[in-house]
Amino acid sequence: MNCNKCGSNNVNIQVINEQKLVTKHHGLIWWITIGWWWIIVKWLFLTIPALIFAIFVGKRKKIKNIQKKIAVCQNCGNTWNI
Ligand SMILES: [Zn+2]
Repeated sequence: MNCNKCGSNNVNIQVINEQKLVTKHHGLIWWITIGWWWIIVKWLFLTIPALIFAIFVGKRKKIKNIQKKIAVCQNCGNTWNI
């Protein structure tokens, strides 16, 4: 692999881990089939809200690991994504 800036082939490839917090959103079909009565059921159970809400929200958030490869030119210091 050659650097696209200086043309040197003295290039290091590094793998970095990126963490992203992903919130899942429900689609339109979910709202039509489940969403409307699920909201009602949720309101009925508001007597124990904190616990249910915490579990419900907690499940919707996931930590996603994204591996990124970055090339670093040892000659001029140029970095770019692969
Ligand atoms: Zn370079």
